[in-house]
Amino acid sequence: MLNVSNIHKRFGNNEVLKGVDLHVEKGDVIAILGPSGSGKTTFLRCLNFLERADEGEITLGDITTKCTKASKKDIINIRKRTGFVFQNYNLIITKTAIQNVMEPLLVVQKKSKEEAKRIAMEALDKVGLSNRYDFYPSQLSGGQQQRVGIARAIAVNPDVILLDEPTSSLDPELVGEVLSVIKKIAKEGTTIVIVTHEIAFAKEVANRVVFMEGGKVVEENNSSEFFSNPQNKRTIEFLNRFL
Ligand code: ATP
Repeated sequence: MLNVSNIHKRFGNNEVLKGVDLHVEKGDVIAILGPSGSGKTTFLRCLNFLERADEGEITLGDITTKCTKASKKDIINIRKRTGFVFQNYNLIITKTAIQNVMEPLLVVQKKSKEEAKRIAMEALDKVGLSNRYDFYPSQLSGGQQQRVGIARAIAVNPDVILLDEPTSSLDPELVGEVLSVIKKIAKEGTTIVIVTHEIAFAKEVANRVVFMEGGKVVEENNSSEFFSNPQNKRTIEFLNRFL
């Protein structure tokens, strides 16, 4: 469903991604793990052209494009079919929770206001915010803001949701509420690729794990094999720090 091959990305002389591949099937929950600076976030951002890779190819459904050659239309189509959840929520601070969720429905999907509102309410209900529709981001906790971010991503009914360290800006006591919402949408069959440092969560929810180091995938396996029988020396060292 999503196929990504040979992604390379440089920032100046710093080669951050050195040929990364990823294959995602419908219903997959894929956790991307790895040490800080290994290129996880950059890779995720390349998938929907928040960063443009210097080399590589992306196929999403019936769209196939070389990253360097992707047209504006390709990029818009890929973005229409992917939801992105940001580390720092990226909400519009002058808009309420429901207006934030309605925004891509109105602007990108060209839904009517009535329909956008109905879908946004449903999405906010799903993330447990039915009593916060008209609250501004400043009136919400970090966990609630991130749940608005997740509602905004699922509201457009994308093929895949990309989550970039969705809990890393949160106070520890707010992490659980966001992880349980992600767990809930995963159980409903949402296709998910998540960059995370929450190892226990990855172990519980992901069906596949990709481990990156130094801009490369050094190990990839189904979740139970990955955690019970890691092969690569670096993976073993990394997991030993957590488990
Ligand atoms: P973390 O777990 O700490 O978030 P990560 O594995 O997600 O790390 P990235 O954020 O992708 O790693 O960063 C990989 C490397 O790319 C780092 O050395 C970082 O400094 C560099 N980098 C990322 N974005 C940029 C940018 N916009 N300009 C220059 N360098 C960047």
